[in-house]
Amino acid sequence: MVRAESVHKSFGAAHILKGIDLQVAPREVCCLIGPSGSGKSTFLRCINHLEQINAGRLWVDGVLIGYRQHGDKLYELRDREVAATRRDIGMVFQRFNLFPHMTALENVMEGPVQVKRESRAAARERAGALLERVGLADKAGSYPSQLSGGQQQRVAIARALAMEPKLMLFDEPTSALDPELVGDVLDVMRGLAEDGMTMIVVTHEMGFAREVGDSLVFMDDGVVVESGRPREVLADPQHERTRAFLSKVL
Ligand code: ATP
Ligand code: MG
Repeated sequence: MVRAESVHKSFGAAHILKGIDLQVAPREVCCLIGPSGSGKSTFLRCINHLEQINAGRLWVDGVLIGYRQHGDKLYELRDREVAATRRDIGMVFQRFNLFPHMTALENVMEGPVQVKRESRAAARERAGALLERVGLADKAGSYPSQLSGGQQQRVAIARALAMEPKLMLFDEPTSALDPELVGDVLDVMRGLAEDGMTMIVVTHEMGFAREVGDSLVFMDDGVVVESGRPREVLADPQHERTRAFLSKVL
């Protein structure tokens, strides 16, 4: 579902991603861990084409991200084409980023109505079902300011799902939450995984990575240092950098 080959990204003179290779199969839950500044968010943003990569190739569901290939040449996509390739990818950030002037239901309806040109009636019905799926059927009429952080984050997940993505990217979705609210959000993510959603999850929740993840990828300083089955990487890391990192977070 996702294939990254030697992906490089720089911001000015700062070389942040230094050749990332990664494969994520359909239905796989890939957890991405690593120290602050190692490039995890940057990598997710490249997958979603919020950042343009400088070298390498990235495919999502067989579609080359950000470029059109013609023979051996690559051409940058125009904005409209970028939007089309991005549509299949849902992203949930650390901060919930809901529209503050819209109810939970309206937040979830917005993408289908504005982007997919779905009828309001059809979008409303699906949005209601999605809110139910994330355990918030009773909060459809609430505004973000009336919801807890965990509830807002679950609305954000429902909003991403409303676009019927093939891939969901999560960037530390629980790290801004009070501890008692983390579990509800992780439960929703676990349910998504059980339903077969392909997911890349940047997280510090090692319990989630161990129990829900199919693979665990440790990134440091812009490269993938080590990856494997979560239980194996956590119990028996092969690299000193992985060991040092895990000794701090476990
Ligand atoms: P954290 O765990 O703290 O979220 P991270 O692994 O997600 O860290 P990134 O946010 O990807 O790390 O950042 C990697 C590096 O890239 C950092 O040094 C950061 O300052 C730099 N960086 C990220 N975005 C930009 C940008 N738009 N312009 C310049 N530098 C950036
Ligand atoms: Mg980050």
